[in-house]
Amino acid sequence: GLLLEGVSAAYGRTPVLRGIDLTVAPGELLVVLGPSGAGKSTVLRVVAGLEPVTAGRVHIAGRDVTTDRPGRRNVSMVFQSYALFPHLSVADNIAFGLEVRDTPRAVARQRARAAAESVGCAALLDRRPGQLSGGERQRVALARALVREPDVFLLDEPLSNLDLALRTEMRTELRALHDRLGATMVHVTHDQTEALVLADRIAVLRDGRIEQVDTPDAIWHRPASAFVARFVGSPA
Ligand code: ATP
Ligand code: MG
Repeated sequence: GLLLEGVSAAYGRTPVLRGIDLTVAPGELLVVLGPSGAGKSTVLRVVAGLEPVTAGRVHIAGRDVTTDRPGRRNVSMVFQSYALFPHLSVADNIAFGLEVRDTPRAVARQRARAAAESVGCAALLDRRPGQLSGGERQRVALARALVREPDVFLLDEPLSNLDLALRTEMRTELRALHDRLGATMVHVTHDQTEALVLADRIAVLRDGRIEQVDTPDAIWHRPASAFVARFVGSPA
C-alpha cells in the first residue's frame, strides 16, 4: 500500500501540493482526478521520489521512503508519452527495468516475455517502438512497468494518447490486469468517465489539495462540493 501524510511540494517558491493526506490500500486502484495544473503528475513524482517534499511523509509498503532516492523505491511509472527507447527492441525495452538491477540476461528475457504475455504483446517482442501502433506501444510500456513487480504502479494519463475506441478497450484491460495482479495502483487522469469506470476510489484534486476521496458511486451521487459536482458532471 501507499500512505501520504501532509505532503506538500513546490517548484521553486511556488507551492504545488498543499498538505495531501492519502491512503491507498494494498491491491487498491485509486484514481487521482482533477483539471490540468491541479498537481496530479506532481503527486506521482513525489511518490516516485523524482520530486522532493517540502513537508510531510511518504510511506510505501509500510516503509517510510520520504528521503529515499528514486532507485531505492520499488515503484513503476507509466507515462502518457510511453517513453520507450526507439533503438531497442520491444523485448529489450521491457527488460530494461530489470537490467539496471543486474538481472542475468536469460532471466531478463524470460521475465520480459512473461510480462509481454500478460498484456498481450508477446508477438511484438522483436519489433522496435517505431513499428508499433499507439495502443501497442502502451502495452509495451505497461509490460515494462510490470516486469519489475513493483510495490506500487503509478500511471500518468496512460490512455490519453489513444483514440476513443482504443481508450475504452484499454480501460477494461487495465482494470482486468489490476484485478489479476492484485496490484496497488495510482492512476492519474483528467477524464471523469475513465475515473468513474476504473477506480475503486477517486481522489479529486484541485489546486494542490484533495477536495474529496470516495468511491465512484459516492463521488457521483454525493459530491462534497460544487467543484466536484461540476467536474464529474454529476446531476446533484
Ligand atoms: P496536467 O493535467 O496538465 O498534466 P497536472 O495536474 O499533472 O496537469 P502538474 O504537472 O502536477 O499538474 O503541475 C502542477 C503545477 O505545477 C502547474 O501549475 C504547473 O505549471 C507547475 N509545474 C509543473 N512542473 C513544473 C516544473 N518543472 N517547474 C515549474 N512548475 C511546474
Ligand atoms: Mg500531468
